[in-house]
Amino acid sequence: MYDVLIVGGGPAGLTAALYALRAGKTAMIIEKSAFGGQITWSPKVENFPTIESISGTELADRLMEQVMNQGAEMELDEVTEIELDGSVKRVKTEFGGEFEAKTVIIATGAKPRMLGVEREEELVGAGVCFCAVCDGAFYKGRPVAVNGGGNSALQDAMLLSDTCSRVYLIHRRDSFRGEAKLVEALKAKNNVEFVLDSHITALHGDGELTGITVTDKDGNERDIAVDGLFVAVGHAPDNGIFAHLFDLDEGGYAASDESCLTKTPGVFVAGDCRRKSVRQLTTAVADGSAAALAACSYIDSL
Ligand code: NAP
Repeated sequence: MYDVLIVGGGPAGLTAALYALRAGKTAMIIEKSAFGGQITWSPKVENFPTIESISGTELADRLMEQVMNQGAEMELDEVTEIELDGSVKRVKTEFGGEFEAKTVIIATGAKPRMLGVEREEELVGAGVCFCAVCDGAFYKGRPVAVNGGGNSALQDAMLLSDTCSRVYLIHRRDSFRGEAKLVEALKAKNNVEFVLDSHITALHGDGELTGITVTDKDGNERDIAVDGLFVAVGHAPDNGIFAHLFDLDEGGYAASDESCLTKTPGVFVAGDCRRKSVRQLTTAVADGSAAALAACSYIDSL
């Protein structure tokens, strides 16, 4: 039986493992797609204290190495069920794994939100993308659009402007939620055009995206020819299968107290899947440490 079983191998989950292991507990991390989580999509992280600038993948690699050096066990698999048997948590996975743990920390993050425009799902992978770091290279020398007004959209537009012929940055308001410094840097690029107060209202193309229609706040429509559309309108949690363990708010985020404890003894949540006001790398790692230390105290009290 593991002391701490962590669901999700992003910064929150990996930090939880680091703290649990350093407190002398055993820890298993189960991640369904890629260790490192969302941060691996960031071309540059420049707001993590003590590190001036680092790529998201390098930051994730360093964190993983640090955690592995402490003796973490890691599985690439999807958790499908968590059952309670008294104080024991039984965790089942898609590939038939069954694990027992004294505590569970759920750090499953959030998945990219979609725009909800007709044909969006059909064109995913055929022009509609959610990760400029992963897919940007396919659009070298070609026109693309980025939709969103947060740091993800601004960073995506910045990265794409280095290689794409033209980048249309589409945002539903006339000002951005993301950092002013990034907005200024984008304004200085001669191949970036801001399309503000506008929504994407149609996607065009037969099998592959060839263009979008954008509608502004006065109802004026404009067709823009693009080969790629990078949707960066935030993320939503995917906590549904854990709804028996904790309360969810209207956005689907998990309720917990300051120590990341849910209403179920021994079950904690950490990172972007948790209800809180600021979702940043710094707050994800803070949650990971708080959840792990609270889990250790809970184990010691058993
Ligand atoms: P975000 O900050 O929540 O921004 C989402 C953007 O999408 C907002 O501008 C929002 O518009 C817009 N939006 C939402 N739904 C929309 C819809 N249906 N149609 C059109 N636009 C829509 O999300 P994010 O940029 O992914 O960032 C998430 C968190 O990670 C943030 O806290 C961010 O600062 C952080 N982050 C940090 C780094 C880093 O380098 N450390 C990198 C990326 C992200 P409104 O403004 O009108 O609501």
